[in-house]
Amino acid sequence: MANKVLAAVRTAPGKTEVLEYPMPDIAEDAALMRMEVAGICGTDVKLYEHPPTTDPVIMGHENIGYIEKCGKEFTRRKGFKEGDLVFVEHYVMCGKCEWCHAGQYRHCENTNWRTNPEAIRYGYTSAKRPPHLYGGFSQYVYLPWNAVLHHVPKGVSPELAGLVTPMANGIEWSLFEGQVKYNSTVLIQGPGQQGLSQTVICKQAGAKNIIITGTSKDGARLEVAKKLGADHTINVNTENPLEKIMEYTGGLGVDVVLDCTAGAGTIPILLGIEALKAKAGRIVVQGEMPEFPNFPIGKMTTKYITMHSARGHSYLACELALEQLASKRFPLELITTHKFGLNEVDKAIKSVGNKEGGVKDVIHASLMPWL
Ligand SMILES: [Zn+2]
Ligand SMILES: [Zn+2]
Repeated sequence: MANKVLAAVRTAPGKTEVLEYPMPDIAEDAALMRMEVAGICGTDVKLYEHPPTTDPVIMGHENIGYIEKCGKEFTRRKGFKEGDLVFVEHYVMCGKCEWCHAGQYRHCENTNWRTNPEAIRYGYTSAKRPPHLYGGFSQYVYLPWNAVLHHVPKGVSPELAGLVTPMANGIEWSLFEGQVKYNSTVLIQGPGQQGLSQTVICKQAGAKNIIITGTSKDGARLEVAKKLGADHTINVNTENPLEKIMEYTGGLGVDVVLDCTAGAGTIPILLGIEALKAKAGRIVVQGEMPEFPNFPIGKMTTKYITMHSARGHSYLACELALEQLASKRFPLELITTHKFGLNEVDKAIKSVGNKEGGVKDVIHASLMPWL
């Protein structure tokens, strides 16, 4: 095995350099993963433009790969061995707190960089910190004892497995938070990989009416949404979305609203509150902006709306997402549209963000370090 590892490192806002790191020694309780696919999402677009740290970082937090090297103790504790194809959550566990015991690693304060500057999280951790390999835009990724792994089921290719994160968010947000179920009426705002994954999960759950919104830029994505099971699509630039939603629901409004937009400010939440049915609707929001001037709290409470926060995914949601991928029930190759190599990280992120310098009509981008 080579003694150097190549990784694409964010060295400044909007700047990537491919750098070399030493191949790490693997302790008995650790492992090394050979990267196959790092999924790129809207969070990467944000972190690339506005990094939360000035340190260099190997981004890439949706990581699929083969265990290349594995300490005995790692196998004994965790049941994974060399040659296994795995999905690594970007959350790392402390193993001690109530959230880690519940498989809700994203809420662990000991391993969250927001509450513990020393914490490790894949795609967020400083590349200065040995053994450096804490991000997926790299040939190899280091796995300490407390990395959270899932087996990728047989028959699921690494590229398809690259969809596990948006799919797990789909399960977490639409089923666990939004309680979408048989006969539900759902409004999904935003037809990116996240909105399309929610579409698949809502369809699988038996939703009777799935309405998805997009802009004039989203023509191709809205077509894919229909093929994945959306009943109605709305172009918010050319149509009045609220009128259309009421038309498509016989004037009743929807049971559940899922906000999968990026950079749309307060608009999707305001529309969601209007579009929900008269009583007991649920809205799942991302809360991208720090403040919400003139929030219609009166209308929200009068309509008896429940608001939930979209915050990543639990262990269970990941397992269910992998089963969903293995079922091959939906033509998900319509989502995995583009592949990029290690030298193309900058272009790949710009493509996902629909920015200048990117390629057009990307839904899900797979970063494949060995391409
Ligand atoms: Zn992501
Ligand atoms: Zn914990």
